[in-house]
Formats: sequence, C-alpha cells, structure tokens
Amino acid sequence: MRKIDIRTAKDQVARSDTIRNINKLVVLNYIREFEPTSRAEIARYTALQRSTVSSLVTSLIEEGLVKEVGIGKSSGGRKPMLLELSRDEEAAIGVDITPSMTTIATANLAGEILEKHSFPTFADREKTVSNILRVLEKIKGKLRKNNIQIGVSVPGVVDDVSGVVIYIPFFGWENWKLREELSKRLELPVLVDNDANAIALAESWFGKSEVRGVKSFIAVLVAEGLGTGIFFDGQIYRGNKGAAGEFGHMTIGKQRSDTTCSCGGRYCLEAFVSNKATLNRYNKLAGKAEDDIEKVFDLVLRGDKKALEAVFETVDFLGLGIANLIVGLSPEVVVIAGKITRLWNLIQPTLIEKVSSTIKQKIPTAKITASTLGENPTLLGAISLSLVKKFAKVDLVV
Ligand SMILES: [Zn+2]
Repeated sequence: MRKIDIRTAKDQVARSDTIRNINKLVVLNYIREFEPTSRAEIARYTALQRSTVSSLVTSLIEEGLVKEVGIGKSSGGRKPMLLELSRDEEAAIGVDITPSMTTIATANLAGEILEKHSFPTFADREKTVSNILRVLEKIKGKLRKNNIQIGVSVPGVVDDVSGVVIYIPFFGWENWKLREELSKRLELPVLVDNDANAIALAESWFGKSEVRGVKSFIAVLVAEGLGTGIFFDGQIYRGNKGAAGEFGHMTIGKQRSDTTCSCGGRYCLEAFVSNKATLNRYNKLAGKAEDDIEKVFDLVLRGDKKALEAVFETVDFLGLGIANLIVGLSPEVVVIAGKITRLWNLIQPTLIEKVSSTIKQKIPTAKITASTLGENPTLLGAISLSLVKKFAKVDLVV
C-alpha cells in the first residue's frame, strides 16, 4: 500500500499518455531483463495485447533504445524477430568521484563502458570541478544525441531534490551546488547521489539475479569509508534530505577505534570497517606504513598472517554492523561491494557466522552476497544514475 502524496500532486496524476508511458517502460525493462526476447514473449509475459506490444516496440526502436537482432526459434508458428537493448551508442555518462580518483565514463544502454577517463580527485574543489568539466565538454562534443542525463556519484550526503551535496566528510566539502555547476555549463540534466545509493541502484538493474530479483536489499560499500544504500520496496530509501543509510556513523559499543572515522569520530562503525581501518591494523601489526589496500589483500591471498589478522578483524566488525542492519530493516539480501570482495571466498564463512551469532532473535535471515559490479562499482552506480530517466518510473528514484 502506498499513500498518495498530495504535495506532489502534479507528478502523481495520470495524464492521457500515462498508461502508454508506463507500458513502454515495462516493455523496455522486460527486454533489459530477458533479452534476447520477442514481441510474442513480451505479450505473453505482460498480458498486453500483441498489437500494443508491437506499437510500443516500434516506438522503442525509433527512439534508439531497442533493436532487432535476428530471427529466433519458432515455438509453433512464424519464427520471431529477436529484440535486444541497443548497444550501438552512448546512452549514459557517469561521473564517479571517490576520495582518491575521479572517473568519467560513457556507457551504452546495457551499462557497458565505452570510454573512460580517470584522474586524481584534488582536495581543491575548484580544481576537481574544472577537471570534470574539461572531460565532460570533450565527451559532449562527440555525442550523437543530446538527451543524455549525467549521473554523478559522490562519497557523501546529497539532497537529491536540489542536487546539492550537503557534506563530503573526506574533504570537508559542504553545501556544494554540484548539479547546478555542471548542468549550467553543459546544458544537460544532471542527477547527483550518494555513492552507496548509486551502487544500490546499479545492483537493482545490473547485479546478480539474487539481488536484482528481490524487493528489498541493502548495499554495503567498504571503501575508504563505509557507505550503505537501502533499496526498500523497489526504490532507494533516502530519508530526510537524502541522509538515510549513514550506518557508517552508527556508534557501536564503547570501544574506541585506532582509526578515525571520516566524520572525526572514533566510535563509528566506519572507524572499524573501512579500507583505512584495515590498513591501520595491518601497519600496526607488521610495523609497516602501507597505504595501498590492494597490497594488503595480495598478502592475504599469499597467506600472510598479519594481513590475515588485520582483514579478519575488519570482517568481524563488518559482521556486527550487518547484523544490526538486518535486525533493524529486515532486508532479503545484503550485498557487499568494494575491493574486499576480492577475498570473498576466504571471508564469507566468517562473515556469515558473525552475523548469525550476533542476531539473537528469530527473524528471517538475509542472504549475504558479494557484488558482481566489478572493480569499480561506484562507476556503474554513476552510470545507473544517468540511466534513471530511461528505465525508471520517475517516482522510483527522483
Ligand atoms: Zn563517523
């Protein structure tokens, strides 16, 4: 049951083209999920009239979103023409700002990367913005279509309505009118969101079937910090001014961490679970000054005892945090993203054991799984933000 929100009445009423637009989105999403498919299969699955499906598919082909890719097998009658998402041209531009690097990429409608540029994120905000604009202007100059929305993922809290980045703790950047800065200069629409929310969106479209097939899951990003994106009842749950999902800053116990959270705290979950925390633990145990988490994970895979101890302490706290999320929100799945998933086979049993031993009540268990979004999940998150207007009902995300 969803309450009608009268404050957004003009976005809630059905207009003469509403039914067709919703049906077109259903058909497009069906093709994305089950491609290659045929008009007959879509009609069977959606129970829409065959003629309606044909007309919607024709529109989608004309808009360059779908294409015919060949003849399929017959299930009795005429052999069907198969349909897939169009992959020929840029449909998305993603800007992924992380504390260390900024990556800008174009992708097709299926989220496949076509062109990619990376450069360090400078603590000087103006310098970072001018680098972003320089790359985006070059990309814009090459676009064949000018109806692309730019999706931007940032490691901080974002008011999704105004597109203002409220706070990025790593750099201390506050009240950054990022959407306005980019859209004014580039004259393209821009959607900005928190990195973990963006990952949750990407998981809901491009993740493994056990994630994208459920109505509620939580994406946990273990990176320089710790972010969580809540996908709740088929949409991203944002809370007041987009600040939901800041579980990285929940206080756990009265133990003080040796690592400082990005907010400056020592008792936040993030102070115990982040790549920074793992590096600190390893450096303390081994008497080193390593600053590359990949190197510590390499050592773990080679069986280095100190690296193993450091990582498993992080995993222990990660399990504790996840148990709290499950008790509070009861998701069907918790999906872990970030470089730590390289060690998934090694850490999974311990993580699951920690979660189940922490939860004392008899509540439905959530499946805990690793993200399949690859090395750069936040980039695919930014690309997903770019694709929102093509795949989602407006009220799903914006
Ligand atoms: Zn904190």
